Amino acid sequence: MTESAVKPDKAYTNDEIYARLQKAVQEHRLTPGTRLVEERLGELAGVSRTKIREVLSRLAHEGLVTLVPNRGAFIASPSVAQARDVFVTRRMIEPNMASMLSSRATPAQIRTLRRHSKQEQEARAKDDRPTIIRLSGELHVLIAQMVGNEILLRLMRELTSLTCLIITLYDKPNTPACPHTEHADLIDAIEAKDGARAARCMADHLMHIEHTLNFDVADADPPEIESLFD
Ligand SMILES: [Zn+2]
Repeated sequence: MTESAVKPDKAYTNDEIYARLQKAVQEHRLTPGTRLVEERLGELAGVSRTKIREVLSRLAHEGLVTLVPNRGAFIASPSVAQARDVFVTRRMIEPNMASMLSSRATPAQIRTLRRHSKQEQEARAKDDRPTIIRLSGELHVLIAQMVGNEILLRLMRELTSLTCLIITLYDKPNTPACPHTEHADLIDAIEAKDGARAARCMADHLMHIEHTLNFDVADADPPEIESLFD
């Protein structure tokens, strides 16, 4: 009980708790299937279980958390079908999003994208995988933010967080999240105001990420019981 006796210095707001949990998922520090104990989270964040429940239901709404009646909240484990749906959706949205930004990106926005890409490169040099994975996803969110469409931004936050869970579950060992040169190529195309090229870069890039995943193993369902008695 000594652990739980430690009181946090302050009570975190719902948004802060939400952001921390989301970041932990993005950095693979909370992996699929991890149980999120309301009471313990409440103690750590200095808030009531009711507040924790509010945050968890928001995360559940976004598909990051699964709420199981009488058992509690768990970090979601997207199925192969859900993972494929996420990538189909990303391929529908993101090439257009990149093309839209190409036509309107300001020099300041290009500088921000370059700075982000440099941070990614630094994380790579240090082989800091949690940061690499988080920053890779964030670049996509940043592009949505720059396009200036709130609904698109919300959707991209959700899709990139789900992608992080999918990468945790289905990654082939030792493959990087987003190949860094592809982000650089994408930023080049946006800076050149070449919408068609930016869209192509994004489509190829998403295809490459999907190809680093191994859905075959997970696709192999256990044998149906009927087949046991053939
Ligand atoms: Zn990427």
